[in-house]
Amino acid sequence: MTDVSLITGDGIGPELAEAARRCIDATNPQIKWDIVEAGIDVMEKTGTPIPDETMESVKRNKIALKAPITTPVGTGFRSINVHLRQQLDLYACLRPCKSYKGVRSKYSDIDLILVRENTEDLYAGIEFEKGKDDTLELINWLNAHSQRKIGPNAGISIKPISVEGTTRIVKFAFDYAKKLGRKKVTSVHKANIMKYTDGLWLEISRQVAKDYPDIEFEDRIVDNMCMQLIQKPELYDVIVLPNLYGDILSDLCAGLVGGLGMAPGANIGDTSAVFEATHGSAPKYKGLNKVNPVALILSGVLMLRHLDKTEEADKLERAVAEVIAEGKDVTYDMKPDRNDPTAVGTSQMADAIIEKVKSY
Ligand code: NAD
Repeated sequence: MTDVSLITGDGIGPELAEAARRCIDATNPQIKWDIVEAGIDVMEKTGTPIPDETMESVKRNKIALKAPITTPVGTGFRSINVHLRQQLDLYACLRPCKSYKGVRSKYSDIDLILVRENTEDLYAGIEFEKGKDDTLELINWLNAHSQRKIGPNAGISIKPISVEGTTRIVKFAFDYAKKLGRKKVTSVHKANIMKYTDGLWLEISRQVAKDYPDIEFEDRIVDNMCMQLIQKPELYDVIVLPNLYGDILSDLCAGLVGGLGMAPGANIGDTSAVFEATHGSAPKYKGLNKVNPVALILSGVLMLRHLDKTEEADKLERAVAEVIAEGKDVTYDMKPDRNDPTAVGTSQMADAIIEKVKSY
């Protein structure tokens, strides 16, 4: 048996966690679930959004399936998602974007894998607030050492990109491409403007690429990449990006394949991995048994593949694809008319997927 932590989250999290767990279990994957909580609901009960036992469970099992968690705007606690990534050094964010027949989208035949660096860049959280003493001190130092001057009313966010951070993520992208038999890796940057951060990223990307002669390598400037993905997404395969561009292009690519309800993800480090949907906790749908469980179920497929449970992963992905293609037992967002009264609920869509799995 493989021990896996199931973090039930908040908002729509618990109902999605339950649907995904049932679908994964239908493949008989020999998984023992350790069901733990995180988010605003458990915060109200225990005073902390991420109890010690949740963190200990993930650290012990090293594999978690995580339902969405709310990050309240402007109040005390920081994002638990960011906390988990930092605590477990989950440096690679994997976002496959694949077209499934029957999904409403302007595109078909998309099969992209985005690999986003998760720990550095403008997301590192190194920020200096306008008007604070530290900020003014930093501005004075910068003004003394740079041709360009910054006024005293500026806030500052720092963008670190390191040799080590870039090497491991680009290596991860190539290794993943190799494992899946993919043909090409594209490294995305803005090296023409940010020479010492994105320029370094590009230089390291080129160096790492030399160790993988069987996989094609190319680079693209991020603005051009956005246009290319809209116009010719079929030209791309595995795409590796620094944190901020990765965040933005992940949503762009989710849009190509039918939106957030269809976008799975994983955060992977050298020792641990947390699998989660790209979408958030959609609080307005909480408890309504309404939202689409597919993104979290497909995150479960990624998890099964990570655990080398390939047969189980294939079965589950096939079942999801067939239920979507038939278009009958699907949630409101997958119907041509979102008010279609024949749309089913979260748990009924999961039931239809389970029935397929059991029929194979
Ligand atoms: P959201 O993804 O929760 O919801 C935006 C809209 O997308 C929803 O109103 C809904 O219309 C649609 N949607 C989302 N998931 C869906 C699904 N499974 N099926 C059908 N429709 C779906 O984004 P938000 O409203 O910006 O964020 C809500 C909260 O979630 C915030 O607190 C945010 O910080 C948090 N969040 C968490 C994660 C995470 O846990 N990894 C990721 C993103 C956002």
